[in-house]
Amino acid sequence: MRIVVKDNVNELAVEKLKEELKIHKLDVSSVDGYNNSVWNIEGETSKITDKQILNYGVVYAILRENESYQETDRAFHPNDTIIDVSGIKVGNGYFQVIAGPCAIENENQIIHIAEQVKKSGASMLRGGAYKPRTSPYSFQGLREEGLKLLLEAKRITGLPVVSEITRLESIDLFDSVDVIQVGARNMQNYELLKELGKLQKTILLKRGFCNTIDELLMSAEYIMAGGNKNVILCERGIRTFEPSMRNTLDISAIPMIKSKSHLPVIVDPSHAGGIRKLVEPLTLASLVAGADGAIIEVHDNPDNALCDGEQSLTCEMFDDMMSKINGLAYFMRLNLKK
Ligand code: PEP
Ligand code: MN
Repeated sequence: MRIVVKDNVNELAVEKLKEELKIHKLDVSSVDGYNNSVWNIEGETSKITDKQILNYGVVYAILRENESYQETDRAFHPNDTIIDVSGIKVGNGYFQVIAGPCAIENENQIIHIAEQVKKSGASMLRGGAYKPRTSPYSFQGLREEGLKLLLEAKRITGLPVVSEITRLESIDLFDSVDVIQVGARNMQNYELLKELGKLQKTILLKRGFCNTIDELLMSAEYIMAGGNKNVILCERGIRTFEPSMRNTLDISAIPMIKSKSHLPVIVDPSHAGGIRKLVEPLTLASLVAGADGAIIEVHDNPDNALCDGEQSLTCEMFDDMMSKINGLAYFMRLNLKK
């Protein structure tokens, strides 16, 4: 069990709490790096109730083993985390837009789209090389060749790139990819998450379409417990009884996750709505709800896209939306691209 002690509290009350813990035969030690404010409690912790601990008025949070979000919980990190992705800051005070095609299709396509979204103000380029499709007969992505083309677009435009990993074996191919995306279908692929925890690269972890917020945070724990603290969470729509949209964007997840965790939260309105005309309103609503950014599918010829064309914005629509985002970000006192 861990407890977090409040700042500037009565020393006597702190000592009394320590005595009470000792009476319950519990060992107290201070966790390194937290200035005595986080204690590790060992022994039969079930013998003491939360109420008995809180009675002293000096404890801010109690985390018992079976509900321990040591890395993601805001109680341990009261300040918002800001993640630096090759010079682009993601987190409190910034609204970053990642844009690009669902899938990399060929060299001209990815480079042209990269140049267009850059011109409109996107701060990172997305592009799927390994595509986890619902049907095995759908386009599965250009795989290794796709990653090479994405890196070429990065070289030409200077935009940091985001791409999805689907299996442990391809991890070395992602060396020059700035952000590794874990898709909704792999959110609970714990072996993959553990391997990503050994890297120092930013991981964009998407919420599974049937997963709770706490399950998303536990998946982030898997990555962070391994030592990689660079995790961005992504709300991308969940499955509800409403069939008009591909999924339902859980706007309330944005402030809820932020109240529970210090990690940055972005949204994916493309997969949430699944329909082009929903992308702009969902993005603007997410900005106002406190999201730290958005990942948007953009295609130069969406009607002929090999993947997710129906939810992809044209380059012109993206440009138009970016000017609205700029206006809204100014109104909300957020920064774009720093
Ligand atoms: C994607 O980003 O292209 C994707 C497949 O997203 P998700 O995992 O959210 O379905
Ligand atoms: Mn897609």
